[in-house]
Amino acid sequence: VRVMRRKLAAGNWKMNGTAAALPELQSLATSYPDASVDVLICPPATLLHRAAEAVKDTGITVGGQDCHAAESGAHTGDVSALMLVDAGASAVILGHSERREDHGEQNEDVCAKARSAMDAGLKAIICVGESLEQREAANTLDIIGGQMSGSIPDQSTGENLVVAYEPIWAIGTGKVPTLDEIGEVHDFIRARLERRFGEGVGRSVRLLYGGSVKPGNAAEIFAVSNVDGALVGGASLKAKDFSGIIDALQ
Ligand code: PGA
Repeated sequence: VRVMRRKLAAGNWKMNGTAAALPELQSLATSYPDASVDVLICPPATLLHRAAEAVKDTGITVGGQDCHAAESGAHTGDVSALMLVDAGASAVILGHSERREDHGEQNEDVCAKARSAMDAGLKAIICVGESLEQREAANTLDIIGGQMSGSIPDQSTGENLVVAYEPIWAIGTGKVPTLDEIGEVHDFIRARLERRFGEGVGRSVRLLYGGSVKPGNAAEIFAVSNVDGALVGGASLKAKDFSGIIDALQ
């Protein structure tokens, strides 16, 4: 089975950005009226609708950073997948290590959120990744395997699922695994997906690397097999930096 996977550059703004950031987003959008790769920006929920308006009819789409598993109800402060769609989102990041740490999200929570997101028509970008302690104890692949079986729903397809490998110790630290280490984990994730979902689906799911991706290291990371793009935090906040990463992907 041979499949073509469209490259994806996804920006995670985390808890950064007010209306003052919209011109920066617009300038990015005008540089990519019709990018040959998918470009996604995930701003904070408060900015989602305005961000969607700002990139309308360009090569850029917007997404959320989390959603609740329920469609609606008594969940003060939470946002549902349907609300993200309503605000203009086409995707949502789920199970980011900061959500897992700050909000105690477990694999089964992430899985329930992903089901809800997929039911609402969103792509779920499900994050997995080991801590430094787990890597040093040579537990990386066990951890990733467990996170994958627990967080990825059965209804996943090449269209509605993206998996992001983000070693926790590489996020916001400037530290990046070696290219061999990235390749080992991405090959493992690919093999697991093929085993669970069959070759057709398993080979069409896009796999992103995330953790200190910058314009300067993007090209070598993108050359690693089974790396179909990146999930970018800090370097997605400035159009100039993110453009450098998009260019490395094209
Ligand atoms: P970083 O964050 O690019 O700032 O390391 C990546 C992420 O957390 O998605």
